[in-house]
Amino acid sequence: MVLSAYAELDLAAVTYNLTRIRAYAPKAKIMAVLKANAYGHGLLRIAKVLADADAFAVARLGEGIALREAGITQRIVVLQGFLDREELEFHIRYGLEPVIHSPFQAELLEQIPSAEVVTVWLKLDTGMHRLGLLADQFAPNYSRLQNCPAVRRPIPVMTHLANADVVQDTFTGQQLDRFNSALHNLQTECSIANSAGVLAWDGTRSGWVRPGIALYGVSPFPGRTGPDEGLKPVMSFRSRLIALKDLKAGDAVGYGGEWVCPRPTRLGIVSVGYGDGYPRSARTGTPVLVRGRRVSLVGRVSMDMISLDLTDCPDAQVGDEVTLWGKGLPVEEIAQHASTIPYELLCGVTPRVKMVER
Ligand code: PLP
Repeated sequence: MVLSAYAELDLAAVTYNLTRIRAYAPKAKIMAVLKANAYGHGLLRIAKVLADADAFAVARLGEGIALREAGITQRIVVLQGFLDREELEFHIRYGLEPVIHSPFQAELLEQIPSAEVVTVWLKLDTGMHRLGLLADQFAPNYSRLQNCPAVRRPIPVMTHLANADVVQDTFTGQQLDRFNSALHNLQTECSIANSAGVLAWDGTRSGWVRPGIALYGVSPFPGRTGPDEGLKPVMSFRSRLIALKDLKAGDAVGYGGEWVCPRPTRLGIVSVGYGDGYPRSARTGTPVLVRGRRVSLVGRVSMDMISLDLTDCPDAQVGDEVTLWGKGLPVEEIAQHASTIPYELLCGVTPRVKMVER
């Protein structure tokens, strides 16, 4: 029996979600987003499962190199691109496709000899105001790169949506208009959609789409869950009950004695804590599944343990499996209780948590 926290990964759900995404955007090619250790699911593991993806996207050079060194042959786009000549040369050596978001990167590309050919993506900032060339920088840098002997033509272009998860927001429409007017007569590959774009915004579903969270079976939309979008959650974060005790009304539980038993209480201690990536910000009332029933977290989350009120689950036993999120308990709901987003919970699972493939 595994006593510590573990993450059960339903790998068939990853391919299922990829198929669902293709159904939403049947004409698009899919660039599966694998950054941050595939949102906490394991970079290489997920890349291998996603053999049918048309390309991968990672945030950083090191992630791209790790994929290549593991034998991944699909196109790999590096969303943050390179900072200096040395990093650019690594992109070339490993056949990675950096995103060009700033003029200094165009200058570095101009210094590369024509024999070393590299595919780059140009990023247009249509309103996110994070990475990307502003509208007035776009055309001059596009033609500059088109004239760069080392750069493969035509140069694909991307942008990133800031508010696509809010379906009534008009800003996505504005971003699309800005993108389309900057590109009005360019014949090249384009990429706009993140998961929210794929699932909800028609005008973003062409060219290349870049889903991340949806691949892992999680909804990008507040108040909704992956299954609401027809997706299957991949990760179920679990542990076990390691102790039970009966307390009197008035007894205080955990650090700071923050929660006080309102009645005679059967308390359960679970071997999971913020040292495993369970959020410390989760408060009393956050649901946890024991024997298929929802019970409440009570008191503060410690590094290695949490406490549950099991008074209404009297048959619970030491050794019982506990689900912290995943099948039957959406990570989106736990994120809400912890005042965060599911992305952060998935990425935050720490290395001491064993990943178990199913
Ligand atoms: N594209 C870019 C540039 C991103 O930064 C991200 C993630 O933040 C994605 C695509 C995927 O987003 P999501 O996980 O919401 O689908």
